[in-house]
Amino acid sequence: MLAAPNIHTLPTARPPVEPPQDHLRLAALHRYNVLDTPTCLDFTFLTELAAKVCGVPYSFISLVDAERVWVKSYTGLALESLPRDQCYCSLAVLGEAATDIADLTLDPRTAAMPLTVDAPFMRMYSSVALTSSDGYPIGTLCVMDTKPGTLDDEQRRMLSRLSRQVMALIELRANEKALQSSMRELELLATTDDLTGLHNRRSLLQRLKFETARAKRFRSPLSAVMIDLDHFKRINDGHGHIVGDQVLASVGRLLRDSVRVIDVAGRYGGEELCVILPNTPIEGALKFAETLRAKLEALTHHDGARVLTVTASMGAAAFDHMDIADGDALLREADAAMYRAKHAGRNCVER
Ligand code: GH3
Ligand code: MG
Ligand code: MG
Repeated sequence: MLAAPNIHTLPTARPPVEPPQDHLRLAALHRYNVLDTPTCLDFTFLTELAAKVCGVPYSFISLVDAERVWVKSYTGLALESLPRDQCYCSLAVLGEAATDIADLTLDPRTAAMPLTVDAPFMRMYSSVALTSSDGYPIGTLCVMDTKPGTLDDEQRRMLSRLSRQVMALIELRANEKALQSSMRELELLATTDDLTGLHNRRSLLQRLKFETARAKRFRSPLSAVMIDLDHFKRINDGHGHIVGDQVLASVGRLLRDSVRVIDVAGRYGGEELCVILPNTPIEGALKFAETLRAKLEALTHHDGARVLTVTASMGAAAFDHMDIADGDALLREADAAMYRAKHAGRNCVER
């Protein structure tokens, strides 16, 4: 895609005054999240249609941003963006009734603009405002020609209709985006444990199923580490449940910061956490667990002026890629190893 054509350093007049409501207009434009989005055939189709209906070579869907006019779609000339004061569409949006200019060279506002004085030497301009649902002109659907002239009534009507189609498409895309982002938010809510920010139990088990299937299919190793905080009852008894919660939250944060993006760290229940380590043999899982154990032991927590620490017992288990059972069995093995760590004196890792 071409950038703006060579722009003469002509003293092009900046549109004299910005209308007082330009910030509201810009807010309306930005709500659509359409600026700087990739080229899209649906929009290109509409500019092609506009050019055809109006019998001219050029058509653009332009959005008038604070400092630039950004082109969503073009036909006839690859344009990406132009400074706001060097584009006919700014005049149209600024409500100067500059929606139809029969000869751009004869209008003092447009005679020196780069598209007029540079190739392709535009002569005729006609546009219809793209109006946001709350009534602000956010841009235009416009057509241009290198010959002077005007559109007839029927062509104007068609251009108007097409501009409504452009707006409908912009609205549709914005709604799709909003829907996608609220679905992502919902999914995050449904899969995250509030206190620790880790995967909740349901999500953890779901991911375990997925990772087990993947490990089988690709014959890759898969490990799990079960983590149970040591003597956590004492923390609750000695400092209260709220401090206990705070300790759990910071352990959760430490765990989140300690895993790779492909790992799945979850709260299995109470003060029992679990990490699934895809593509990791038992040696890797033991190493990970030992590093985590040491970091956890070194982490300090605070109850007012009192400083406390907490340790954990951990059990690691892995599937050999030749012998992959189900995910539940992996967790059972890791859990049994964790109990061996408890019996071995706590604050240690067993397999
Ligand atoms: P150990 O595991 O070393 O044998 O001793 P423990 O004291 O940690 O014993 P256990 O694992 O059986 O008990 C877990 C305790 O953790 C009991 C429960 O009150 C506490 N706990 C579980 N979930 C939460 C929570 O969400 N918040 C707080 N504050 N405490 C919790
Ligand atoms: Mg415990
Ligand atoms: Mg426990």
